[in-house]
Amino acid sequence: MASEGQLSVLLVGGAGFLGLHLIEKFYNVSPRPKIHVFDVRPLPEKLSKQFTFKAADITTHIGDLTSEADVTLALQSSGANVLVHSASPMHGCSQEIYEKVNVQGTRNLLSVSQKLGVRAFVYTSSAGVIFNGQDIHNGDETWPIPEVPMDGYNETKAIAEDMVLKANNRSQDFLTIALRPAGIFGPGDRQLVPGLRSVAKLGQSKFQIGDNNNLFDWTYVGNVADAHVLAANKLLDPSSSSVVSGETFFITNDSPAYFWALARTVWKADGHIDKYNIVLNRPLAIFAGYLSQFFSKLTGKEPGLTPFRVKIVCAYRYHNISKAKRLLGYKPLVDIEEGIAKTLQWMDESS
Ligand code: NAD
Repeated sequence: MASEGQLSVLLVGGAGFLGLHLIEKFYNVSPRPKIHVFDVRPLPEKLSKQFTFKAADITTHIGDLTSEADVTLALQSSGANVLVHSASPMHGCSQEIYEKVNVQGTRNLLSVSQKLGVRAFVYTSSAGVIFNGQDIHNGDETWPIPEVPMDGYNETKAIAEDMVLKANNRSQDFLTIALRPAGIFGPGDRQLVPGLRSVAKLGQSKFQIGDNNNLFDWTYVGNVADAHVLAANKLLDPSSSSVVSGETFFITNDSPAYFWALARTVWKADGHIDKYNIVLNRPLAIFAGYLSQFFSKLTGKEPGLTPFRVKIVCAYRYHNISKAKRLLGYKPLVDIEEGIAKTLQWMDESS
């Protein structure tokens, strides 16, 4: 990496799905920086065979990013000059949790980082910050953040992103950047691909919501992690820092696919091909979503289908990553098929 002396990187949220791939990528940078993880949970005891890093080479700091004392301790003892902030509560949490972690927590990280000599602050935002339920065709960084947000998660990710970009201060050598990945999948993902596999096991894969003409971005997790290393490097390099700092970048696999294509590739790789599909079109699915929501209120059970989920599944959502290619030198090195193969391999290894 471009910097004098040995670099120390603090990965906030480093024990998570993306976090472990960030460790792997920074571990393989030459010369290797010191790698510190800051998370509310420890690294998993069993790591995928696909990772080359050794847990013993990583220093873990257990703490809460909303605590000034916890973050101060981790930054002081790590001496980190690079901080990657990829922690966030998952989808489906309360607004209060999102406010606390994404907004107040990011504010806390920024202020302690500024005080304690962090030079490069890389924020994992989300492509969802520009999504409000309307189609996104080839969306790029000039697209505005919608006035009415899709949900509390995307709203608070957008607020945090804005704080990160505004904190960029070249005269004080505190440089920030925000990456907006879309639809991350890969080894360690406990939501998307495992969820698809269980749909097939339950015999539900023949049901298709929407007409499947909508293009969607899925991004292999290792590519997302590569983008973070590139971003840190570009911030630290005086020849590129003024161009990339204070900027946002969409990060995808640059190969939009029809929404159901990923699911069907996973099912096919598992030897499961449906002879026919039962299509529930968008208006009907939204209606069914409202019904399901209504009955779930009566029964107190989680609704299977919601209008929100239908809108996500049926919308066009693909992005233009020219800016990341041009300014960060980003290239999605693992294509979708290979990414799915790696994911299935990991699932078989860990089952
Ligand atoms: P994840 O839940 O696997 O990882 C997040 C990590 O943050 C976890 O290890 C968690 O323990 C940690 N964390 C949460 N709250 C914390 C707190 N208060 N203090 C310290 N650590 C805390 O999530 P992920 O899928 O790896 O997502 C990583 C980042 O990428 C998130 O910022 C997310 O918003 C963003 N993102 C994810 C996707 C996706 O499809 N998964 C898409 C776009 C953006």
